[in-house]
Amino acid sequence: MPVDCPIFDNLQRLHARLAAVTQGRVASYIPELSKADPAHFGIVVATVDGQVYEVGDSRVLFTMQSISKALVYGMALEDQGAGRVAQAIGVEPSGDAFNSISLEPGTGRPRNPMINAGAIATAALVRGQGDAPAWQRILETLSACAGRALDVDEAVFESERSTGHRNRAIGHLLRNYDILQGDPEPALALYFRQCSVRVDCRDLALMAATLANGGVHPHSGQRVLSADVIGPMLSVMTTCGMYDFSGEWAWRVGLPAKSGVGGGILAVLPGQLGIGVFSPLLDERGNSVRGVRACEALSRDLGLHFLKPPRPVAAGLRARYSLAELRSKRRRAAADEAVLQAQGSRVQVFELQGDLRFSTLEPVVRAVVHARHDMDIAVLDFERVQHADDAALRLLEGLVATCAARDQHLVLTRVRRGDLLAGLGQELDPRAALALVFQPQLDLGLEWAERQLLLRHVRPVSGGVTAVQGDLVQQLRSQPLCAGMREAEWRPLVDTLQTLHFEQGSLVLRRGDQADGLYFLLAGEVSVLVDRPQGGQQRLATLSAGMSFGELALVQGGRRSADVRADTAVHCARLSADAFADLARTQPGLMVRLLHNMVCALGDTTVRLTAEVAALSS
Ligand code: GLN
Repeated sequence: MPVDCPIFDNLQRLHARLAAVTQGRVASYIPELSKADPAHFGIVVATVDGQVYEVGDSRVLFTMQSISKALVYGMALEDQGAGRVAQAIGVEPSGDAFNSISLEPGTGRPRNPMINAGAIATAALVRGQGDAPAWQRILETLSACAGRALDVDEAVFESERSTGHRNRAIGHLLRNYDILQGDPEPALALYFRQCSVRVDCRDLALMAATLANGGVHPHSGQRVLSADVIGPMLSVMTTCGMYDFSGEWAWRVGLPAKSGVGGGILAVLPGQLGIGVFSPLLDERGNSVRGVRACEALSRDLGLHFLKPPRPVAAGLRARYSLAELRSKRRRAAADEAVLQAQGSRVQVFELQGDLRFSTLEPVVRAVVHARHDMDIAVLDFERVQHADDAALRLLEGLVATCAARDQHLVLTRVRRGDLLAGLGQELDPRAALALVFQPQLDLGLEWAERQLLLRHVRPVSGGVTAVQGDLVQQLRSQPLCAGMREAEWRPLVDTLQTLHFEQGSLVLRRGDQADGLYFLLAGEVSVLVDRPQGGQQRLATLSAGMSFGELALVQGGRRSADVRADTAVHCARLSADAFADLARTQPGLMVRLLHNMVCALGDTTVRLTAEVAALSS
């Protein structure tokens, strides 16, 4: 780590300030622990993405002691399930010392897994895997949480095993209440061993970061504990992790944490970071004096209190507009355009972003629900959605059902199926599911919505392949480019045209080719396409019979700027560049009209693009 880093500097200042604190006493009731050096002091912060900031005696080894309880509790939950564990051990803070004999009257259930009674009962619930004994499972899991192979301080283990009469008494009491079955000694041995596992301060911070990271070690990427035991572990750490100091700790520090009489404290800020602190000088409750002070200062200085009122969560809605402002790339005949313009607000588009959960999706649901009578279709775009939790999935399903009941559609675009919304629709009534439509691109979702809108508000829908019928003049009359033509001008125009046929899928124009003429689309559909930098093609427009293309390059000369592909079988009439030049000489009136109509078409395009930019940047 660079030494001129402000975060490192802050930690060093904090370390120097608290190193002067000499209150507290090294634990001595376990004889071996009294050998600890009271001067030792380390602070380590590890982020969920694996950055480690360490100062002081961050690599001095000490025993985990009670810190192991939180992690072994997670293993018991994994092995037995929450129900079985809850039969044996409660989750209520006792408000008593760590070694109190705090058993629930009647049942004999230890109040919680963080006091010794609960931790001894917890150790008995850890299962070995295959032939491997429970101890191996505990040591391997603790090692995986730290990200390196840990071992046991045999001297401390022996010291506690031979002097731990109070814990042994607790073990027998648990046996008396049938919380432990059979001889209590194996459970006690497991417990003494887990307490004697040697770690350093950096290990603690990385263990904490693993919990903060939902059970996945930030460096190894290994899933060490299953995601669903992390919440219960952090909950008991919050309420019971600092024994009879837990209430004040929550008030002052506000981080799920666990301390040990070896002098360590492990603290977790879920989703963000882990802290490990080590200083063997303990207060009367068995918590490290400097450790508590260091965590308090870090929480205050770095703003880590887990209940610090968060800023309202980032909005889940990035942009909202309607079809009146942003259309698909399909160009439509004037009559259809007019319908879409008039009815466009009945299709509302919501571009979502970030993590979808109740609080980010709720405003979107509210907007859709409120638009009750004014909306036919809601398009939800998922391009920028990173994650959707179960609550968001259920909310979306509820929204589909609501839309179905109101004869509305919900179109979801650019959803990474399989991962993002896996399972969506499974709970849906099949009739309601008809209201749910997936489209791979936003543009296609908009086009789908346009088609629906036209179906709802005009019938039949124009477009599609129409048979080539009547003579060319007849077919060209509906062309906006030919608007206002004098009767006498049709013949000279039509005589210069060449009719062409293209198979479905073939290229009508190729990007880069010399511009050689203007094309009137007589039947069928074409799409104008450009290559995307990341591969694939982007649709700029889809045109149908009655429209024209290629006119710009004709005026400007030069090369084609995009591909034009036949989406269906296509009939065109082509006005070549040479014929165009001839007409300019022989039919100036006709030419003026053509150019005037081209300018009008360009004007329409500009208006459309301006509205699109405005909608997207709002
Ligand atoms: N092994 C110690 C004991 O049982 C653990 C206590 C602690 O760290 N608070 O007494």
